[in-house]
Amino acid sequence: MTTAESIPDVLQRVRATFTTGKTRPIEWRLHQLGELARMMREHEADFAEALQADLHKGSFETALSELGFVASEAKYASKHLHRWARPKRVTTPMMALPGSSYIQPEPKGVVLIIAPWNYPLSMVCAPLVGAIAAGNCAVMKPSEVTTNTSAAIARILPRYLDKDAFAVVEGGVPETTELLENQFDHILYTGNERVARIVMTAAAKHLTPCTLELGGKSPCLVDKSANLEVAASRIAWGKFINAGQTCVAPDHVLVHKAVATQFTELLAAKIKEFYGEDPGQSPDYCRIASERHAARFARLLEGQRIHTGGQVDVAKRYVAPTIVLDPAPDSELMQEEIFGPVLPIITVDEMHHAIKFVADRPKPLALYLFTKSKALEAAVLDKLSAGSVCINDAVIFMVSPELPFGGIGNSGMGRYTGWYGFETFSHMKPVMKRGFRFDAPMRYPPYNDFKRRFMELVR
Ligand code: NAD
Repeated sequence: MTTAESIPDVLQRVRATFTTGKTRPIEWRLHQLGELARMMREHEADFAEALQADLHKGSFETALSELGFVASEAKYASKHLHRWARPKRVTTPMMALPGSSYIQPEPKGVVLIIAPWNYPLSMVCAPLVGAIAAGNCAVMKPSEVTTNTSAAIARILPRYLDKDAFAVVEGGVPETTELLENQFDHILYTGNERVARIVMTAAAKHLTPCTLELGGKSPCLVDKSANLEVAASRIAWGKFINAGQTCVAPDHVLVHKAVATQFTELLAAKIKEFYGEDPGQSPDYCRIASERHAARFARLLEGQRIHTGGQVDVAKRYVAPTIVLDPAPDSELMQEEIFGPVLPIITVDEMHHAIKFVADRPKPLALYLFTKSKALEAAVLDKLSAGSVCINDAVIFMVSPELPFGGIGNSGMGRYTGWYGFETFSHMKPVMKRGFRFDAPMRYPPYNDFKRRFMELVR
């Protein structure tokens, strides 16, 4: 395990590598991306074992949201990298003619990726894809909460990626604090709002740009026109995958009163269908990351109207898939991001009440709407802001490398995945090139009215 004392040496090594220009050639980047994908293939079993120990994550979820997510990001970046990295020609205004202008992407330098525990492998490696593609060196800090996955990354990743360009620093608050004392060229932090403020304060000292991938309470609106059966399946999947510990999981449902009872029954039936009579026995149902996090759910559920589930076993880090009916808006459950398998269902008289409910709160990371009404869809898109919007499904938008992923307001700033990861870790360097042949005297002093009129004409 890296100690805080060894961090300066690690950073010096990685910085020195970047300075040599080793990471710039496209072929080198493609090789590293290929190696990252190969690592996911060849160590599927090791990572699956670590994720099973940390989160009781089953092989399907591991393949989909951890290994598969990273591998497809790497594949997509490899496919498009030549095009992304090419200078892009733009027009040159008349005043600067003859001449040419273009934007030449260049790597930012050494970037820091700080990851959380909920998707402990992909939250390290998916941003890394963008960093590699853009030609950077990177230092990665996996979460200390998921110790097995953190150790697996630290052990396996250096066998595949260039050790001089990429480093994994294991550890918790002291190590992250030490890392943040240092100069980076970009920081991508994924985690909670409180620590995001610490990261940004530290980054301000060095004027380091930050991408903050945070969370929040992602609402899910269910209209009476929706296909309730399909909505219940998709919401149950999006909510209970990874036992609700997904940044874009539906946090709560706002459902029209005309279908509230029917929808709740369907949702409860889906939970039984997916995870059986006792979800504790299901190989597909995850555990909470730590006893501390599990104990929080016992507290959140106190005094609530529980429709389904509600069982909490702190020692086993088990919280059953739970439906809570109409919690008070000022209850703790409705004040903080739930980030676990508890789904409050709030009944609304009209959908515009649901829109107001969402509009009155901080902008969420994801917003879900289930409806067949074009008018409601337009109203939601027009009136509400969110990191991402998904209509008639939950969480699934994450599979698209064409859509940027990131929050707005309290749910974060900046974005990545696909081209957007490349863009985040690149400086888009504008270049204007002129020749010496024609040097119009119109812009030079002494100025006069004729020159001024000419300048206004050609601008
Ligand atoms: P966490 O506790 O693992 O912390 C995240 C990282 O911050 C860790 O690497 C940790 O070492 C570091 N850290 C913790 N305390 C620190 C401190 N005092 N100083 C410096 N560094 C510190 O994970 P978490 O924050 O509990 O993660 C859950 C949150 O992450 C949720 O809010 C969730 O919505 C959000 N999240 C967002 C995304 C996204 O892409 N937007 C993805 C996953 C999770």
